[in-house]
Amino acid sequence: MSYEVIIGLEIHVQLQTQTKIFCGCSTAFNPDQPNVQTCPVCLGLPGALPVLNERAYHLGIKTAMGLGCQIAPFTKWDRKQYFYPDLPKGYQISQYDLPFSHDGHVDVVLPEGAAGGNGSPDAVRRVRILRAHLEEDAGKNMHDESGRGRDSKVDLNRAGTPLVEIVTEPDLRSADEARRFLEELKLMLTYLEVSDCNMQEGSLRCDANVNLHVTQPDGSKIPTPIVEIKNLNSFRFTEQAIEYEVAQQWESFQKTGIRMGAKGGHKRTVGFDPNRGTTYPLREKEEAADYRYFPDPDLIPVIPKSELLAAIRTEMCELPADRRKRFLTAYQLTPYDAAVIIDQGRAVADYFEDVAKACGDGKQAANWLTQDLQREMKERNQSIVDFPIRPPVLAALLERINKKQITIKSAREVFVSLLADAADQKSIPSVAGIDALIASRGLGIVQDTGAIDVAIADVVARSAKAIADYKSGNEKAVGALIGQVMKAVKGADPQTVREKLLAKLAESN
Ligand code: ZN
Ligand code: MN
Repeated sequence: MSYEVIIGLEIHVQLQTQTKIFCGCSTAFNPDQPNVQTCPVCLGLPGALPVLNERAYHLGIKTAMGLGCQIAPFTKWDRKQYFYPDLPKGYQISQYDLPFSHDGHVDVVLPEGAAGGNGSPDAVRRVRILRAHLEEDAGKNMHDESGRGRDSKVDLNRAGTPLVEIVTEPDLRSADEARRFLEELKLMLTYLEVSDCNMQEGSLRCDANVNLHVTQPDGSKIPTPIVEIKNLNSFRFTEQAIEYEVAQQWESFQKTGIRMGAKGGHKRTVGFDPNRGTTYPLREKEEAADYRYFPDPDLIPVIPKSELLAAIRTEMCELPADRRKRFLTAYQLTPYDAAVIIDQGRAVADYFEDVAKACGDGKQAANWLTQDLQREMKERNQSIVDFPIRPPVLAALLERINKKQITIKSAREVFVSLLADAADQKSIPSVAGIDALIASRGLGIVQDTGAIDVAIADVVARSAKAIADYKSGNEKAVGALIGQVMKAVKGADPQTVREKLLAKLAESN
């Protein structure tokens, strides 16, 4: 028997608005000051009336457009009723049967070695998006974790924060793919500037639905009971939790053979304990009917005008997936280099593009960005935005390499000096600074080929032994001769010296 892993995800993303979704309270709150960003609306006091935050709806649409979703011409708000201390109204304002958007997709690049993958931006797993809807967040319960007290506290600062809930079809086939999907989603949402996707602060949370389709000897497939893993707050935990559940389900199926929907084969809800690397059972989940959804009578439905949708469309930027593909042809990058640059976020990709355009050499720009820059940024704990060498300055340096004015080795020396001077606050890296360093340190490649010719003639005249060695087939002998010429003409381009020396040796044949 073999099995296929079936995974669907539900992701809650906090939208980057100044204020909450149905009231004017600030969304910038401090956990040390609980219950200060609240008002009668988000506290759920009787008689308080919610009003939709227009910006939250805009950012929701932008998110949906990024997901390639259809925008509903009519959308309404529903009350999802359940009792929990962090939900003072007794219901969450959400969307039930008429979400504001539906039917999109996200393409996940499959790496080399994965089934169907080779790292190229065209080898993808297409993950269909069933729907994306808007809703409000609940507050936060804080339980006494000392084990001594019995106090639990509620902080309602978070209550009413705008969320987009994104629901995928069960199209993911491994824990690794699920992690890659989340990374691509986060990249896209941060590119669009709709969310900061900060998982530590709860701006992106994930639930995973996992089961197996076991292939029987006769070819038929049996689905195992679905397990929903709730509230995963890191990509690594999501991957670990899914891997754990897959192993559990396979073991359990081999023992019991229980299938989804059969007696005992009902859906379970679990949490993940990252310290132990295992899942544990949570409350049995309500079915949709238990929530008694009904349209919220306090909020009017939304019918978006076509002008509004057109305006939001103009705010869209090129999505990471499209940019990854374009970099291959526009800058002759390998899929690997394109991915390394794009996957680090929009600021890094913008920096790369500015350098590549200005110096006209994408490959060289990519090499410097992924090696020298990355190393220095890491050492200095700097982001690309604070990196003292700005794109026009790096482009000028790379241009001097391409024009054979300096060697790559000398360019590295200039690069490091510019950074050191910036760190000591001696000077801001500039194009003039590059040329001053080249001049003061004699790093320029000697363009005067006459001087090289004289030195070659001199070296050849007194190196009969090495030349004889070279002519009798010892290729290495030429290296010593190049070294002597380089010594005589400081700053000579080794490539030019080599070519000229070989020509001289050939003509003396
Ligand atoms: Zn409020
Ligand atoms: Mn939800």
